[in-house]
Amino acid sequence: MRYMGVDSFAQAVDLLGSEQGKSMVLAGGTDVLVQLKLGLVEPDLLINIKAIPGVKDIVISDAQIRIGVAVSGAELGEHAGLLAEWPGVVEAMELIGSTQVQGRATMAGNLCNASPAADAVPALVAAGAWVETLGPAGAREIAVKDVPVAPGKTCLAKDEIVTNICLPRQQVNSGDAYLRFIPRTEMDIAVASAAVNLTLNTDGTIKSAIVALGAVAPTVLLVAGAGEILVGSKLDSAVLDRLSAACADACNPIDDRRGTAGFRRKIAGVLAGRAAKIAYQRAGGSL
Ligand SMILES: Cc1cc2nc3c(=O)[nH]c(=O)nc-3n(C[C@H](O)[C@H](O)[C@H](O)COP(=O)(O)OP(=O)(O)OC[C@H]3O[C@@H](n4cnc5c(N)ncnc54)[C@H](O)[C@@H]3O)c2cc1C
Repeated sequence: MRYMGVDSFAQAVDLLGSEQGKSMVLAGGTDVLVQLKLGLVEPDLLINIKAIPGVKDIVISDAQIRIGVAVSGAELGEHAGLLAEWPGVVEAMELIGSTQVQGRATMAGNLCNASPAADAVPALVAAGAWVETLGPAGAREIAVKDVPVAPGKTCLAKDEIVTNICLPRQQVNSGDAYLRFIPRTEMDIAVASAAVNLTLNTDGTIKSAIVALGAVAPTVLLVAGAGEILVGSKLDSAVLDRLSAACADACNPIDDRRGTAGFRRKIAGVLAGRAAKIAYQRAGGSL
């Protein structure tokens, strides 16, 4: 295996394109190194992107928050501006692993590893996030919800790389939240998870809402019908029951020793209701 460090995305794209065998990008390495050691992947070329200028930056402009692809979970949690606007996205990323893992793990790596249980991904989808990529044909933008296409697979071309993760600026009277269920208190992956992002009218009713679920289907689920159920409500119990039912219906979960399909369906609905309540209060609503 060849290991190469690059100082530009263009150089990484050239290397990815010219490699005849399997190539992989290395960000924090908390997935890649584990997979290498277990023999699950055997790349011919590993490209370290952490020395590219700007990859550790978080830049807030009028329209968006642009997060570099080597920003770690710990660094996200220390960014006051990001935390103030998107606490759900930050808390999702901060659930990943341990203090040591937090120092390395990136959001881009979490997305591109394409695990159905990836914690940052439902929160990014609920937030309406997108990625900027670079390939031989140039740059493009892809909604985060469209990046994972199957467990372990993304829509990225072999010679395409994510260059930034972008979030819209959060609207006023808005809040987001992310919750997951794991069988123990930490260092485990989600059996089911839910993210909610919503905006309130001045009378406290919900103006718009986005609900995304994780670990209950081969890829993250954006449950459009669940968001619509919340609109116009103040999260009364009948609406929360309908939300839970819509989420449970949308799931297409596996049945394994960490949770049955039925359990995953039920828990996804419960988590969506609880996340909606947190997001509602963060948006300034009172329950
Ligand atoms: C002990 C432990 C606990 C963990 N707990 C959790 C958990 O609770 N929840 C969870 O979701 N995950 C967990 N993980 C998995 C992992 O930490 C996360 O998925 C992490 O966010 C991956 O980021 P990374 O920067 O380390 O990615 P890397 O390992 O560097 O890369 C991951 C994948 O993404 C690709 N990639 C990386 N950057 C780019 C890019 N810019 N463009 C294109 N492709 C790219 C790589 O080629 C690779 O396929 C855990 C891992 C460990 C070791």
